[in-house]
Amino acid sequence: MKRYQLFINGKFVDSSSGKFFNVINPSTEETISECPEGTVEDTRKAIDAAYESQKKWAKLPAIERAKYLRKIADGVRKNADMLAMTIVEEQGKIKSLAHAEVINFTADYIDYMAEWARRLEGEIIPSDRPNENILLYRMPIGVVAGILPWNFPFFLIARKMAPALITGNTVVIKPSSDTPNNAFEFAKIVAETGLPAGVFNVVSGKGSVVGNELASNPKVGMVSFTGSVETGSKIMELASKNITKVSLELGGKAPAIVMDDADIDLAARAIKESRILNTGQACNCAERVYVHEKVAEEFVEKITKTMKKTMYGDPSKEEIDMGPLINSNALKSVDSMVEHAIEQGAKLITGGRAEDRKKGFFYKPTVLVNCKQDMEIIHKEIFGPVLPIIKFKDLDEAIEMANDSEYGLTSSIYTQNIDAAMRAANELKFGETYINRENMEAIQGFHAGWRKSGIGGDDGKHGVEEFTNTHIVYLQYNQNKK
Ligand code: NAD
Repeated sequence: MKRYQLFINGKFVDSSSGKFFNVINPSTEETISECPEGTVEDTRKAIDAAYESQKKWAKLPAIERAKYLRKIADGVRKNADMLAMTIVEEQGKIKSLAHAEVINFTADYIDYMAEWARRLEGEIIPSDRPNENILLYRMPIGVVAGILPWNFPFFLIARKMAPALITGNTVVIKPSSDTPNNAFEFAKIVAETGLPAGVFNVVSGKGSVVGNELASNPKVGMVSFTGSVETGSKIMELASKNITKVSLELGGKAPAIVMDDADIDLAARAIKESRILNTGQACNCAERVYVHEKVAEEFVEKITKTMKKTMYGDPSKEEIDMGPLINSNALKSVDSMVEHAIEQGAKLITGGRAEDRKKGFFYKPTVLVNCKQDMEIIHKEIFGPVLPIIKFKDLDEAIEMANDSEYGLTSSIYTQNIDAAMRAANELKFGETYINRENMEAIQGFHAGWRKSGIGGDDGKHGVEEFTNTHIVYLQYNQNKK
């Protein structure tokens, strides 16, 4: 069995606790590795190393920092098969998606961020005074703590470390205890690039210990967190002690609106893909459908047919479309939400618990109709392959129900009508709206939630700027000749 070490100040070291926790394969329920139970002391060592190394790192020209990022991206590509299998094994992601996570999301993301070396610019602002320039600089913040969930564990390392490093910050990553193996494999690749010690560190362990220390340590300049609303709120509270900047990428409850003029085949295909992606465990994927009553029957028939066809099982097999849920708690939670929806009047058309599986946390692709806006399943994040469907009469009603959510991450609409599309673009109160396509953000976009879906955002120009402090300089010149 594999046994990993923490990565602190350029070295692989044991935790000061001497303790390990087990990592489980969610398809087989077998233990696949032992990872170090990091302590407050370990976390402080990593923060101190990041803090010290940041002084020199920030002074390197950005293009030099970019060279390290490109080397890391190359290392990720060279090890793509091993990394993808690590993700398949510990997270239950299907092989094709794990490969995409390693290459298209992670390596490409790191390369994209490296491109900002020559592109991140300050500003010169006109002054009200004669002989004065007002200069706006983009400066590094210092130490960035990246606290990660388990659902896109490898990509999220890149989403935190690449923009942080290119802008002159250093990083301490805390992976989820469900999926730490890929973070240590990433650290091995980083170690081979010769990146200066302390610039990138990985500490695994409990959220209440390692995560807590990262969010409350005064040497940390920014906490970039992706995870649940509950933990995000806790992190915000901890960070408030030192007024530490937080960037929170939290949950979602994405509505998909299917209009009566929609291409129903396209809508059924895209919503299905979105709903089963990563076994429904993606913050941005379609979590509830509003379908126009005129096309409801056709849509339900088509989505049910395609959901039923989904091959679920061992995610390492090529023919499989969907793997297991992450752990037994996730299985219990999805199961009880579906049970509750049925008690509240929803009708199960297909799916439910995978009774045929003796091992593994499998749940069948599930469709629920006769859902009502006030049901729990329409408001709480499901995080499983379950699609509740509600009928609507007109776009006003659809938009109102879609906006009736404490989440505001992504949304989508399927229509051939420009007026409906434009109204959705203007009236849906979400960070993202996808029109006639599946929900999946782009590297150069800006992934940022409204309401309880988060604060701040990632990707693109706006995402890079999140990792900087502004510094305004008022510069008087030619003073003697006024
Ligand atoms: P989680 O909130 O349970 O855990 C996330 C991380 O926080 C883990 O590393 C955990 O150990 C740590 N943590 C727990 N308690 C902590 C504390 N007191 N202080 C500091 N850190 C602590 O989330 P999860 O179950 O791993 O991930 C699923 C959630 O993530 C879903 O809600 C999903 O929507 C969200 N998510 C959002 C996005 C996005 O971009 N908005 C992307 C992926 C996942």
